[in-house]
Amino acid sequence: MSLSPLEIPLDIQRRSSKPSPSTIPRGSDGSHHLPHGHGRGHQKKPSSAAVDHRSTLPAPKASDALPLPLYLTNAIFFTLFFSVAYYLLHRWRDKIRNSTPLHVVTLSEIAAIVSLIASFIYLLGFFGIDFVQSFIARASHDAWDLDDASDSQCHHHEFDIGQQIPELFEPEPLISSISSEEDEEIVNSVVAGMVPSYSLEAKIGDCKRAAAIRRDALQRITGRSLQGLPLGGFDYESILGQCCEMPVGYVQIPVGIAGPLLLDGFEYSVPMATTEGCLVASTNRGCKAIFASGGATSTLLRDGMTRAPVVRFATAKRAADLKFFLEDPVNFETLALIFNRSSRFARLQSIHCSLAGKNLYMRFSCSTGDAMGMNMVSKGVQNVLDFLQNDFPDMDVIGISGNYCSDKKPAAVNWIEGRGKSVVCEAIVKEEVVKKVLKTNVAALVELNMLKNLAGSAVAGALGGYNAHASNIVSAIFIATGQDPAQNIESSHCLTMMEAVNDGRDLHISVTMPSIEVGTVGGGTQLAAQSACLNLLGVKGASKESPGSNARLLATIVAWISSGGGTLPDVCHRCGSASDESHEIQQIKQRCI
Ligand code: ADP
Repeated sequence: MSLSPLEIPLDIQRRSSKPSPSTIPRGSDGSHHLPHGHGRGHQKKPSSAAVDHRSTLPAPKASDALPLPLYLTNAIFFTLFFSVAYYLLHRWRDKIRNSTPLHVVTLSEIAAIVSLIASFIYLLGFFGIDFVQSFIARASHDAWDLDDASDSQCHHHEFDIGQQIPELFEPEPLISSISSEEDEEIVNSVVAGMVPSYSLEAKIGDCKRAAAIRRDALQRITGRSLQGLPLGGFDYESILGQCCEMPVGYVQIPVGIAGPLLLDGFEYSVPMATTEGCLVASTNRGCKAIFASGGATSTLLRDGMTRAPVVRFATAKRAADLKFFLEDPVNFETLALIFNRSSRFARLQSIHCSLAGKNLYMRFSCSTGDAMGMNMVSKGVQNVLDFLQNDFPDMDVIGISGNYCSDKKPAAVNWIEGRGKSVVCEAIVKEEVVKKVLKTNVAALVELNMLKNLAGSAVAGALGGYNAHASNIVSAIFIATGQDPAQNIESSHCLTMMEAVNDGRDLHISVTMPSIEVGTVGGGTQLAAQSACLNLLGVKGASKESPGSNARLLATIVAWISSGGGTLPDVCHRCGSASDESHEIQQIKQRCI
């Protein structure tokens, strides 16, 4: 991509004005104030300022050089051109008739020829005025750029235009969290690029101190304040090498509680971390409706995390040979033995292969206990690949993940085959509950579900999106309980069905979610806050009695609350519950999903 003429000088400025620690003055409060024009965040600003400033100046035109108005000058030259042309033609006709040589010209004829040439040049310029102006304009912009370049390189402390946009150069007050001389020195070394920011934890051996130093260095380098982003009150040791690299603080997300959710005879208060107003309120209302109807029941259909490496052969025939080998039941036991060495919780379930020419995609599926299982399955796959290399030495392993898994991407394979936990939940919502809690009637709910969640999603070409807003609830629970938020993509695949039952009086609602990817050990689940949320649900950590049961229970809770809690209020407020003018419903109505 080419730089616009206005960007080029600023790029030059950026490189030339890298702040050195010694040139950065410190405020009396210990905060670091950057000089005008210093710090990357600030250096970009003059660009827009310069653009604005220039855009207010009228662009120069060729006609600006004329002493008379353009229309008058045009009229004069038009008249001149045609009259002298007429005059000369007449003169030349007379000369031909009288046999006078054409090159013998009188003074008036010379004047006429000069006038003809002059007016011709003018008219040429007039008709091609845009063309001419484009040259003039370009030349003038080039002049601006050169000015800027020299300005930015030589006088970037003293921009004239800075006086018109003082706020753009206003340095932000940088609050320092550094107290000791030693830390101050390390900050300076990081700013100067002598100590890599990522190495601070290893160098200092104190994660909180490392975060504080990194944060200070970052503020000084960027000239941007991190005030508002908390630093204290967090256990930075707990995320080291596990959850987040190069921390400078943490983001607070409020956790609300929806419930009680009555599922399989047990009550659950469900934590939801969200900044979306009304989400918890509407989910809570759905829970209330299900609770009042006697609760829901769930069935786990499948529990298996997948990983699909891609390998390449010289021929498609060889790729097919491996496919047949892997899918032959005779070989499964050996392969499972090798795979299961990765963990005492990993148990190989199946290998589905798909060929793309000479390339083979092998989708390994295994149970992973209470872990979400990506690490576990990847280790198992690596074991098998190492083993296969003996019988298939011509196999070229291109990637441990070939995207046929398919992780964190919308993919039909997850929707159809499942990934993680596949769950179906159902409940019968009584007629009076539909009326009293949901403020609508069964027929309207069934119709809207059909037209919105099924037909509407089909019209939209949805992939696993046959629901109201399952991903809203899935995301909120994922964040609260330390799941991988990116797996919200496939975990939100959800098919919501509604049917009138018991002679049309009651509502049967079900959700089928084929790929809920959750765990109660590993990753973010072990952090204090997330762990507390898991504890609230009674699924914290590994299940001692029955490994995997905590993660499976979490998946059913996610599934049911995504439909009962999420779908019901969302659907019902669109189909005639407008009579309820309560504040909550009004807000829910405004929420655009
Ligand atoms: P993931 O595979 O989801 O990325 P991790 O590999 O980070 O998860 O965490 C799983 C770890 O937890 C493994 O080392 C495993 O041995 C251990 N673990 C302990 N108890 C269990 C359990 N009940 N289920 C699964 N893993 C468990």
